[in-house]
Order: sequence, then structure tokens, then C-alpha cells
Amino acid sequence: MITTEINKDIREMTTFGLPAECGRFIQYETSDDLRQLYRDGVLKDALHIGGGSNLLFTTGRYDGTVLHCANRNYRISPPDGNGKVRLEASAGCTLDELCRICAENNLWGLENLSGIPGEIGGAAVQNVGAYGTEFKDVVEHVSVFDTVSGEEIPLSNKECHYGYRDSVFKHQDYPGKLIVTSAAILLDTMPAPRLDYAPLKKLFCNIPPNQLTPAMLREAVISLRDSKLPDPHKTGSAGSFFKNPIVSSDRHAAMEKALNKEIPGHVTSTGEIKLSAAWLIDQCGCKSFHAGDAAVWQTQPLVIVNATGKATGKEIVQLENMITEAVRDAFGVELTPEVIHI
Ligand SMILES: Cc1cc2nc3c(=O)[nH]c(=O)nc-3n(C[C@H](O)[C@H](O)[C@H](O)COP(=O)(O)OP(=O)(O)OC[C@H]3O[C@@H](n4cnc5c(N)ncnc54)[C@H](O)[C@@H]3O)c2cc1C
Repeated sequence: MITTEINKDIREMTTFGLPAECGRFIQYETSDDLRQLYRDGVLKDALHIGGGSNLLFTTGRYDGTVLHCANRNYRISPPDGNGKVRLEASAGCTLDELCRICAENNLWGLENLSGIPGEIGGAAVQNVGAYGTEFKDVVEHVSVFDTVSGEEIPLSNKECHYGYRDSVFKHQDYPGKLIVTSAAILLDTMPAPRLDYAPLKKLFCNIPPNQLTPAMLREAVISLRDSKLPDPHKTGSAGSFFKNPIVSSDRHAAMEKALNKEIPGHVTSTGEIKLSAAWLIDQCGCKSFHAGDAAVWQTQPLVIVNATGKATGKEIVQLENMITEAVRDAFGVELTPEVIHI
């Protein structure tokens, strides 16, 4: 079913809780609906949103069309000969809901992504990641609707060109060319805990892997997240506002030498150094920065929050600029936003 609303207030469909109105809001359910919208010529230039958990409406008004998929259907196949199970989830499925269902059914793969807000479509675009797992580690293929050809096609994991909070969906001829309709996720029925993230390793190092359950990891991940991140139901944010900057190892060494201090970072698969944006921001004293009702979250300075619920997009951008400038001045490093500016 397709529903259309004009001049809709979509603030409640985002986690930042900033003023957000759009010129036209279209909600649909099926690929047939998308084909209908394609024939009606409304897909080109439309902004597709998921759970609105990584969006920043900078001006409070988006004049164009906003699309949303209301399809929350999913299907779990029986295990194959290798104990693998395929979860096929429509774009509108809530990621954390799937994490919960998998954990309850003893299926391994999504547990470290527990607690991340948003929907499957957004997760596939953003390549969400937390506690040592990224969406790319579990996704087999993503089905997309091409708004130019009007065809629905599957893209393999490789064809999605996943990188750190990056994917093929962020490098198209125009934003929104490909609409994610569903994703196929491969899960394990055999124990496959991912304990690369140090605090998780520490919690579970004395328990034999075959005694661990995905539910145990999910619970631990949620408790770690709760201790650091704002609850989106209470305090508006879009999670980590900035990406962790990546510099060459030579540049990292030069920075340490020039500043005469250790700069924390970890080596990526390409031999570069991923710096901690949170550490850089903290070192610059940005925790006390405010811009109107926009503030820095005290237990995780990578997060900008709508502190009172009354902040505007303009204030968030002002604070973003203050932080970016402070880090640039102190370290010569350019922070780039993870949050998508609308
Ligand atoms: C408190 C909090 C904690 C967070 N923690 C994490 C974390 O640990 N790790 C992490 O990676 N992220 C985290 N995030 C960020 C956010 O939850 C993720 O980026 C999430 O995947 C965004 O999904 P969404 O459905 O909300 O997408 P939206 O924010 O609505 O959209 C994100 C992007 O995806 C596009 N999009 C959405 N759906 C579709 C679709 N069906 N087809 C095509 N394009 C689409 C949008 O156009 C936009 O470009 C956090 C956010 C919050 C508020």
C-alpha cells in the first residue's frame, strides 16, 4: 500500500528530535509499490529514510519527497549442511529487533550489533558497526531497486563495496539512485562468538566458546552501550557524529613527535592508523562546548546531543564546526561527519 502526505512533520521519525518537515512523505510496502512510484516518476531525487538515526535535518525543512519502507517482513531458512542459516529481511525491519530474534533463537552473527538504532535499509547503506562486527561481515547480498532502470537486482557483498561506514550506495550518480529493498544475512547455528573488542574479550575470556550464547553477548553489548551512549528515547542524537580519522603510519608518527605524546589509534588492514575521534575531541576540551541547546555527550564526546529537546539543526551544525575547528587547530586532523546532513 502507498500512502502520501503533504508537508509532513517527520521529527518523530528521526532520533535527533530536531525540527524536520518535508514537502511530501510517501510510505510504501512492496517492490510492486516501488514499480508504481517509478512509473509515476516520483523516485528520482527522493530522499529515502530508514529509522532516521543517522540523519541531521539542518534547516528544519526539506522541500522534496521523503520515502519510507513500511515492510517489516523477514524469513529465516532452515540450516544448510554447514549449519548456516539465511535471514532475509525487508528494508523496513528494525535491526535491533532482528538482533533480538536471532539471539533468542541461538543464531550467531548479529549479536554484536545489538542496540544500534535504525532499519535494515539504513544498516546496509551505512555498513553499521560496533564491538568488532560490521554489517559487511554478515551480509550475503542486498537487493536494490534501481530508480533509473526501474529494475530490482541483487548486489553481492562484494558489489556493495563495503568500507568503514561506507558502501556503493554512497557513491552513486545521485543520492538515492539505489533503494535497498531487502538484505540476506548469513548466520551460524554453531557457536561463532566475535570477541575481538577488548572489553568483550575480557568479560568472556574464562568461558569456553561452546558455553557462550548469542544472548549472553547481546546482553553484554547492550550494557556496554548503555554505559556510554545516550538513550535515543530520552536524549536526541544520531550516535557518533564524526568518523574516526584514518592517517598514514608516517603521519601518525610525525604527529606523535611534533606533539611529544602518544596518540591512540589502531592499525587498519591496509596498514594505516585509525585515530580515535573521541580522544582527539576530548583532548581539545570540547566536552564543555555548547551551541544553544546542542551539547557534547559527557561519556562519549563523539556524540553531539539535542540536550534539551529544543535544539535546532543550525545549532548542531554550529557545534559541529566548533569541534572540527578545535581538532584541526590542535592536531591538524580534519574530522568528517558520519551523520548525513540533509
Ligand atoms: C544512540 C545511537 C547509537 C548509534 N550507534 C551506532 C553504532 O554503534 N554503530 C553504527 O554504525 N551506527 C550507530 N548509530 C547510527 C545509526 O543508527 C546507523 O547509521 C543506522 O544504520 C542508520 O539506519 P537508519 O535506518 O536509521 O537510516 P537513516 O538514518 O534513516 O538513513 C541513513 C542513510 O541510509 C539511507 N537509507 C535508509 N534506508 C534506505 C533504503 N531502504 N534504501 C536506500 N537508502 C536508504 C538514507 O538515505 C541515508 O543516506 C547510532 C545512532 C544512534 C542514534
